[in-house]
Amino acid sequence: MIGQYRGSADSERVTRSRVVKFIDEYRNSDLAKKLARTIASRSSRPVRIMEFCGGHTHAILRYGLRQLLPTTVETKSGPGCPVCVTATPDLDKAIAIAHLPNVITTTFGDMMRVPGSYSSLQQAKAEGGDVRTVYSVADAVDIARANRQKLVVFLGIGFETTAPTIAAAILKARQEKIANFSVLCLNKLTPPVMKALLDSGEVKLDGIICPGHVSVIIGSHPYEFIPRNYGVSCVISGFEPLDILLCIEKLVTQIENGTPTVESAYTRGVKPEGNKRALQLMEEVFEIDDANWRGIGIVPQSGLRIKSNYEEFDADKIFSIKLQPSREPKGCRCGDIIRGAATPLECSLFKTICTPESPVGPCMVSSEGACAAYYLYGTEANSFGLSKTKKLHSETK
Ligand code: SF4
Repeated sequence: MIGQYRGSADSERVTRSRVVKFIDEYRNSDLAKKLARTIASRSSRPVRIMEFCGGHTHAILRYGLRQLLPTTVETKSGPGCPVCVTATPDLDKAIAIAHLPNVITTTFGDMMRVPGSYSSLQQAKAEGGDVRTVYSVADAVDIARANRQKLVVFLGIGFETTAPTIAAAILKARQEKIANFSVLCLNKLTPPVMKALLDSGEVKLDGIICPGHVSVIIGSHPYEFIPRNYGVSCVISGFEPLDILLCIEKLVTQIENGTPTVESAYTRGVKPEGNKRALQLMEEVFEIDDANWRGIGIVPQSGLRIKSNYEEFDADKIFSIKLQPSREPKGCRCGDIIRGAATPLECSLFKTICTPESPVGPCMVSSEGACAAYYLYGTEANSFGLSKTKKLHSETK
């Protein structure tokens, strides 16, 4: 049982799903403090770790994990927020499609309020466009089935996590002969953008917290080039506070030992080979292509496009859109934040002009955005009942 946690053996116990039965047990403050003490005892020098995923940024701030960590461990937000990394020209294209007659545009809710160069999906809706929020791509297929006289476009954003469901939706639409359904495919791939960030050298990293949900699909093998070629440690993490602390403990241990490798702190969800069925679905419908990332630019082989065999479902092929030159929100530093080169606190618009009610950039709109996380939880949040980092570490001495 989880109550039997002891010393450094704690970490291995957290990883076994049969030991932990309820989600609350992954939020146990006593165990979190024990793991934090283990991390502190192992950390002898400054290390910089990037949490790739916006979900991790939110969990780290929400549960006050930074306050638990020793000052030697720095965590940085990365590009793992699908709404945030959608490039402005791609969003402009979606907004232009939303303005077309006889079209129903379907999208996840967060995309509605993201400002494009000249408008937003929300504004397109206010101006008469038929733009609908959906909870899954399957909802978009249902809308297409019920509105055969209209063209129904799904805005396909996200990483390897959402791509299999989009592939399945396209296969279903073909099977059911739903010819009025299509996808504007903006899906992106995780390992290639990690490579791009490491190649740029802009932010020096010692370790990466790899996204658990993406890794459920792709497995752990695709990260192996990172320790091998860049000497950077990789550990896959779930999204509960103990998952993340366990992940950081493994990263710090690898870094201190000088043995960078790929490990999983999320073995209850991730197999080394990933989810074969999901990968087959992706392989059937998509091929790899270059993709445009906000703040990073075109990253080779970092996106998906619909194969020509399924081009009747490719909104890019169906709609011929001419775009005006794109422009970024003035003063917004989302691009820097996505690359880990700045924090929201370094943006002069943060909390003054830019708030969740009146967002200037996507990082404040998205539920996975770093600016939204900083706004919601600040940097002092601490759900484990410790008011100051110093207090914890004075306890450990
Ligand atoms: Fe952009 Fe607002 Fe974040 Fe500044 S605070 S980087 S303006 S989203």
